[in-house]
Amino acid sequence: MHPLIHDARFKLQDRCEMLLREHEEKAQRELAEALHALKRIESGAYGFCETCGDLIDEVRLRAQLAARECSSCASTDRNHAKDS
Ligand SMILES: [Zn+2]
Repeated sequence: MHPLIHDARFKLQDRCEMLLREHEEKAQRELAEALHALKRIESGAYGFCETCGDLIDEVRLRAQLAARECSSCASTDRNHAKDS
């Protein structure tokens, strides 16, 4: 038996559990974002910033189909988050 087997088994099991958890959380977040965006398509609000109401620029929207905010509001949010 390889001397690392015991250690490797536990570490790999931990790693698998962690990855599964992360994957699940990410999938849930992305699903919620996608569903939210679909609702906005239904209501006609899609493509407009939720914060300032401006059109979200197309480049940003193409890169992030479920974007809720225009790039300037999104960067303001990030700056606020950094400050607090
Ligand atoms: Zn905005």
